[in-house]
Amino acid sequence: MSKRDSSGRRQTRGTVVIDKDRCKGCELCVAACPPRVLVMSTEVNAMGYRYPQLLAGCTGCTACQLVCPDFVFSVYRFTPAPGRAAA
Ligand code: SF4
Ligand code: SF4
Repeated sequence: MSKRDSSGRRQTRGTVVIDKDRCKGCELCVAACPPRVLVMSTEVNAMGYRYPQLLAGCTGCTACQLVCPDFVFSVYRFTPAPGRAAA
């Protein structure tokens, strides 16, 4: 589970870009995401498959990118502002 801030919300330390039309709906990424911030859509993509959507709390760990057989994910990690301690 990702760390939480002082208000109890999960800290978001990264994000992903999801190329949804490449997805074949296998759901491997949902199971692989440690903070469980990927959920499958109710809509379908151009190939007729449900695809992952990102909730708040991504850590930028790259697990989804590594497990996805169809190269759907691009992962970005946020850099802390200068002078601020890393989370
Ligand atoms: S990089 Fe992927 S697996 Fe890691 S927390 Fe973000 S969405 Fe989940
Ligand atoms: S692992 Fe890749 S192909 Fe499978 S559901 Fe996730 S994004 Fe789609």
